[in-house]
Amino acid sequence: MIQDFNFKGIKAIVRVDFNVPLDKKTSAVTDDTRIRGALPTIKKITSEGGCCILMSHLGRPEGPMEKYSLKPVLPVLEKHLGQKVLFADDCMGESAKKMSAELKPGEVLLLENVRFYPEEEGKPILPETATEEEKKAAKAALKAKQKEMAKTLATYASVYVNDAFGTAHRAHATTAVMADYFPKDKIMFGFLINSELAAMDKVLNNSQKPFTAIMGGAKVSDKIMLIENLLNRVDNLIIGGGMTYTFIKAMGGKIGKSLCEEDKLDLALKIIEKAKEKKVNLYLPVDSLNADKFENESNTNITAVDAVPDGWLGLDIADETIKEFSEVIGKSKTILWNGPMGVFEMEKFSKGTTAIAKAIAEATSKGAYSLIGGGDSVAAINKNGLADKVSYVSTGGGAMLEYMEGKKLPGIVAIRGE
Ligand code: AMP
Repeated sequence: MIQDFNFKGIKAIVRVDFNVPLDKKTSAVTDDTRIRGALPTIKKITSEGGCCILMSHLGRPEGPMEKYSLKPVLPVLEKHLGQKVLFADDCMGESAKKMSAELKPGEVLLLENVRFYPEEEGKPILPETATEEEKKAAKAALKAKQKEMAKTLATYASVYVNDAFGTAHRAHATTAVMADYFPKDKIMFGFLINSELAAMDKVLNNSQKPFTAIMGGAKVSDKIMLIENLLNRVDNLIIGGGMTYTFIKAMGGKIGKSLCEEDKLDLALKIIEKAKEKKVNLYLPVDSLNADKFENESNTNITAVDAVPDGWLGLDIADETIKEFSEVIGKSKTILWNGPMGVFEMEKFSKGTTAIAKAIAEATSKGAYSLIGGGDSVAAINKNGLADKVSYVSTGGGAMLEYMEGKKLPGIVAIRGE
């Protein structure tokens, strides 16, 4: 455990998630949440007299590309740490090796984007015309190179720390493979991954009742595995957002032109059945805010959720639903929220999502534990300035989803084992 480890005189190589958004024109960092998330781990290492080599990816480059350089992260990191940070403009090669070797206690070195090497991900860059056999051979060759990359990076330090929760679901050289090249007592999670795991385990395995999961977003198909896993654990399952209409249609309702996954109607009915079997209270919206166009400047009306007029689209939950959902949330002791209740990016259809965010904050102030995960629900919480009014806001969308689905994440397994 990182908290019990003393880094005095130790050189640690730390995988962080500095995959931050950059301004298209100036390349300045526009949201430094991820950089701030890595600070406790870096500060622990340097303050104890260790030194710190940081690795990260940024975006999806195909080979070295200036627009995916990690250089814009440097000034932000230096400002937060209050010290100079060294930069190696290639994560492999002689210069990175030399800079790592010469690093002194208390110093921090940031390596250039690890995805400038395709072996980091192990995904070959091939022409579209490549045959299946060529793809297979290229992948096998790259996997061998991935091990080489991990092995080389492992020579830079004596301790490996993984604090990149956002990529923990990827079996990449720096997120998982590297751990194999260190003794078991020299690999550990950083503080960020530790707190993400603690939040998710508390909700999944140690929840106070009643436990309410609120699922929203566009599609049932994206969330089905999470819903299935949650049905074994929750008391209440609230469903909102675009996926609502697949359920309503499956039950024989009229949904107009609302989002619907025609091939998931049976699945929706199975979820309803399973909820009954497991004695989970399933809450679907009762009313719907509809629009005649998928635009903020559309005409709107409110109808029962199963009576959306022909040609209209349901884009948000309406007042009756907000009231009912808020009451359930208000009585909950554990709350998990993933996915918006409507097309919250458009002002006109953001009311439902905002109301749910506020209801969760209110329940938290009365003692409930609330975990918010998934890019859009996190955005909604931040947009409403409620990030410090909920218990935990997860930094890893895809990684959180997979962990909560019950999947084994390569980055977690590499350190914790099964
Ligand atoms: P997800 O990534 O699955 O959580 O989905 C988030 C997206 O779902 C957001 O971009 C929302 O605009 C969209 N969404 C939410 N409610 C609806 C709806 N009623 N109709 C269409 N899209 C929706």
